[in-house]
Amino acid sequence: MKILVMNCGSSSLKYQLIDMKDENVLAKGLVERIGIKGSILTHRVNGQKHIVEQPMEDHKVAVKLVLDALVDKEYGVIDDMSEISAVGHRVVHGGERYAKSVLIDEKVMKALKDCIPLAPLHNPPNIIGINACRQLMPDTPMVGVFDTAFHQTMPDYAYMYPLPYELYEKYKIRKYGFHGTSHRFVSIEAAKLMGKDIKELKIITCHLGNGASICAVDKGKSADTSMGFTPLAGLAMGTRCGDIDPAVIPFLMNATGLSINDIDVMMNKKSGVLGVSGVSSDFRDVESAANSGNKRAKLALDLYYHRVKSFIGAYAAVLNGVDAIVFTAGLGENSATSRAAVCGGLGYLGIKIDPEKNNIRGEALEISTSDSKVKVFVIPTNEELMIARDTKDIVKNLK
Ligand code: AMP
Repeated sequence: MKILVMNCGSSSLKYQLIDMKDENVLAKGLVERIGIKGSILTHRVNGQKHIVEQPMEDHKVAVKLVLDALVDKEYGVIDDMSEISAVGHRVVHGGERYAKSVLIDEKVMKALKDCIPLAPLHNPPNIIGINACRQLMPDTPMVGVFDTAFHQTMPDYAYMYPLPYELYEKYKIRKYGFHGTSHRFVSIEAAKLMGKDIKELKIITCHLGNGASICAVDKGKSADTSMGFTPLAGLAMGTRCGDIDPAVIPFLMNATGLSINDIDVMMNKKSGVLGVSGVSSDFRDVESAANSGNKRAKLALDLYYHRVKSFIGAYAAVLNGVDAIVFTAGLGENSATSRAAVCGGLGYLGIKIDPEKNNIRGEALEISTSDSKVKVFVIPTNEELMIARDTKDIVKNLK
């Protein structure tokens, strides 16, 4: 069974065609600048790159070019589109409706539209991408895999905000959490590496990329997570502030005359590690500035590590213990310095990492010492594969 995985942004589209026989990626690619001048498709097969540059006025044209690339005589990987058994779509927000991935039908499309107010930047392009695929592949089943779904198992006392209850009833204001597909994938892989049933394990997963979140995974289910109503909450991130005292916002509006939109942009795009360091949102730049003596860069990193560590402590309490900690995403997979800084001083929780084992990048490996009570892993995330697995599970029993 071959599954096409699609991740549509407002002007971009990422895809992978995965053969589920051996979970091998047959082809993958990226379309950029959809609807703007300079549209470009980069299609990759076996390490070879093929570029298609032509105007793409909308997602339907982009999807058509992706399908053409997949069946191309020269650099295609299938003979006919009918070889694609199903399409798995990444969808950012499923609201409270979806706790699992789902076969897409008209009812689901309506629910996705209903979730637009909760994810105004993300759900509309996801919907446009699904519609484009449905038009071009009307007989191929489509599955929606939601970033929020995994966290729907959080208990009410974890997801409710202490605001007037009517705001939850009227506007659905609550914690949803994001990166769910990644947290689910790496927690499952950690259980496999430990040779244990995930239902016996308490795992804290740290997705540390440009966006970052932590999840307390209890017996395979999300018990709490650091992102909230939006992906702005929780940890400090590349450009996002994470948790701050909400009173800072009215204070700033009064003190500076900044509009609520200005402050929203500041908190999302000009804060976090970039805002504190003044150097960059890329941790490689900030690490190298800190190593050259830049004090604000060092402060930004110290603040970042402090928050990750605080959440690990909090979630060890939420879970009443922890069997494993997983680091994933750009920083978590690649930065030994960050992992060492976060895990340092957590010996009292039974967390000890081995500096030599920690000296790895982008591999799925245990990095804890043999006497560490808590296992610590680096596990590269693979949201596309998780989407493909869910899609396969849903469509294999159809007909
Ligand atoms: P992601 O959003 O998962 O793609 O992660 C992007 C982030 O990972 C960027 O801030 C990068 O700086 C960071 N990153 C990637 N490689 C490294 C590395 N070798 N050392 C430190 N940070 C890294």
